[in-house]
Amino acid sequence: MQSYIMIIEDEPDISGLLVKILQEAGYRTCQAFSGTEAELLLEKSVPDLILLDLMLPGLNGIEICRRIRKLSDIPIIMLTAKDEVIDKVAGLDSGADDYVTKPFAIEELLARMRVALKRVRPEPVVKNIYTCEDLVIDDDKHLVKVGENVVDLTKKEYDLLLYLLKSKNIVLSREQ
Ligand code: CA
Repeated sequence: MQSYIMIIEDEPDISGLLVKILQEAGYRTCQAFSGTEAELLLEKSVPDLILLDLMLPGLNGIEICRRIRKLSDIPIIMLTAKDEVIDKVAGLDSGADDYVTKPFAIEELLARMRVALKRVRPEPVVKNIYTCEDLVIDDDKHLVKVGENVVDLTKKEYDLLLYLLKSKNIVLSREQ
């Protein structure tokens, strides 16, 4: 399936050039010319990757990046001009995956996009927490709580309680 790329760039020439390059490379594209426009588009459809210009009227790239990061892990590549070194750091701090300096080499941009699209973000850690009403067992920390109170249990009691909680929806025999 073709990846869908959102281009957030206020300069029509650069935006148009990006559309041409990306479509020739087999991507589908959509364009936003400001942060506000990008936010509206993002409500309608979620792209696979965002190319985000740093210097935009209104919301700048860093602010847009922070806002997107609150909602989503979409890969974001920032487009920065050569003299925006400090902003580049801020861009990465704000959650961008990578940046490309303008004027960019097409091959470099496409290569960085491929890397960003391929990068598999780590799955959220599944926590071993079991609950039953007020009772909480955190099996990673080996902690038992009733409400806010930590309960001390022997190893055997702990194991039994954990076993019961894990199978709370299953009827157990006395032996089990
Ligand atoms: Ca710009």
